Amino acid sequence: MTATKTIVWVALVLLVQTPLLAYAHSHDTATSPGAAAAVAEPLQNGTAYYLANEGVLVKLGEVKVLFDAFFSNGYGNYSLVPESSVAALNAGTPPYDGIDALFISHAHGDHFSPEPTLAWLRAQPDTRLVGPKEAVQALLALVEDDDPISQRLTALELSPGDAPEKVTIADIDVEVVAIPHAGGKRMAEVRNLVFRVTLSNQLTVLHMGDAAPETRAFAAQQSHWDERTTHHAFPPYWFFEAPGGKRILTNHLRPNHSTGVHVPAAATGNGDEWRERLGGDLFTDPGDQRTLSTQ
Ligand SMILES: [Zn+2]
Repeated sequence: MTATKTIVWVALVLLVQTPLLAYAHSHDTATSPGAAAAVAEPLQNGTAYYLANEGVLVKLGEVKVLFDAFFSNGYGNYSLVPESSVAALNAGTPPYDGIDALFISHAHGDHFSPEPTLAWLRAQPDTRLVGPKEAVQALLALVEDDDPISQRLTALELSPGDAPEKVTIADIDVEVVAIPHAGGKRMAEVRNLVFRVTLSNQLTVLHMGDAAPETRAFAAQQSHWDERTTHHAFPPYWFFEAPGGKRILTNHLRPNHSTGVHVPAAATGNGDEWRERLGGDLFTDPGDQRTLSTQ
């Protein structure tokens, strides 16, 4: 069937079914499951649940991914994930049930700690982990050689400028590039990964770790950014402050929406003031949520 025919056919089906649906809704007891199943599912929105620092759960229907969720160090400046949320993650209490994958941006103590990560992997036997080689090595150092958990870990050895690496996990497309960690030469050895993750071919989010707001590093990956629309990006908040940071978002990454992360704990309870001052949306309080539009 040609694309045009498909569109006409879908439009016809919708036209024919709309009055039927309206009728069914007004006579609820008359709705048959068969009639409901015949209607194409509408595009749904996703949800982002903020844990702390750069820890975020992204959910679209039953597909769920976590970023930078298990860490033990706030360096006196950043919030830790509340204990109640850590307990819910380990227990798999909704919305933290059935998480498909955990992504780690880099192996710094305010993004990743091996022990709590391993504890969660043990408690959630179906989940996968993708992260920099350094984080995976730290996990492997804690387990026996034949521990089946090692089969669930994907170690990436990307460097800035390398072609994107692609990983598929069930209904999730993962595309990763390395962008230098903020802080200049002092941080040059840190492998910082920027994850673009697409859930069910419908919702694409971008998690940037501690990326430096360096135009050149992002411009060098322009064809990668242009390959897909990012619906929602989670840049570290300094992209709203640093010279050129907002331009990188506007000119190179072009997400439909952004919510800044890695906001100092001082912003907790003062989100509106911080959002106004930085001129952008921010996650400031563990427990914050955002609707992620697929439009
Ligand atoms: Zn870092």
